[in-house]
Amino acid sequence: MTDNMTDIPKSHPRYLSLKMRESLVKGVEDGITSMAGLIAHGRGEMFDYLIGEETISTAERAEKKAVEEIIEAKNPVISVNGNVAALVPKEIVELGKTLDTKLEVNLFHRIPERVSKIKGALENNGAEEVFGLEPEEKIPGLDHKRALCSHEGIYTSDVVLVPLEDGDRAEALKKMGKKVITIDLNPLSRTSRVADITIVDNIVRAVPNMMEFEPLYDDFDNDENLKKTLLFMSERLKNLSEEI
Ligand code: ATP
Ligand code: MG
Repeated sequence: MTDNMTDIPKSHPRYLSLKMRESLVKGVEDGITSMAGLIAHGRGEMFDYLIGEETISTAERAEKKAVEEIIEAKNPVISVNGNVAALVPKEIVELGKTLDTKLEVNLFHRIPERVSKIKGALENNGAEEVFGLEPEEKIPGLDHKRALCSHEGIYTSDVVLVPLEDGDRAEALKKMGKKVITIDLNPLSRTSRVADITIVDNIVRAVPNMMEFEPLYDDFDNDENLKKTLLFMSERLKNLSEEI
């Protein structure tokens, strides 16, 4: 995240949240993040409130399972969009190096200039190779621009981490037979429901966690984990309502 928030004191109770917003606004100004990305972030913030803005146990379990699947994969790829590049540019590059994955820029609203700016942002943070600038392949079942992906990256991947992904594309990747891992604060989104592993956590916490956590090496049922996440949210709301 950027450190240009001179006017927001660190003591502000919502400092971290405001810092994230500032990074995204800067992302838009720099041509990295789309306007729609700001709206997506707002939806994420709402769900983050419901889990208390911390990594809950179901998220921790999903993060550990994700680490396991990625390190066991033959061709794991991390997909990077404008929100990811604005919020965790350094951390996502580090995660790719830690877990030995490829990085590919993949946008919902594909604009070549934005793709190359995101690639630049990743390279400025130490990325050696970034895929997605000249995509040769198409994900079947999607309209032209959203389908584009690189041959060496997403197209031939076996495990793909698609944080903050659109539901349609997550589903199309599943249909290609890939193991789909997502980071998505909304446990009800289509992406969350269709993924093999859904990490219901803020990406600013999930990515550093995945660099620290040991792999799970245990059975994992994504539906069961999502159910527990929803129950956690509803019980937390019930407890909070009793405190008011
Ligand atoms: P879907 O298409 O899967 O039904 P959607 O249309 O609601 O979902 P998209 O805009 O396609 O959502 O994807 C963005 C998703 O990312 C949203 O579910 C949002 O809650 C989530 N999100 C936004 N910001 C963050 C963040 N910082 N960390 C984790 N998840 C986030
Ligand atoms: Mg969507």
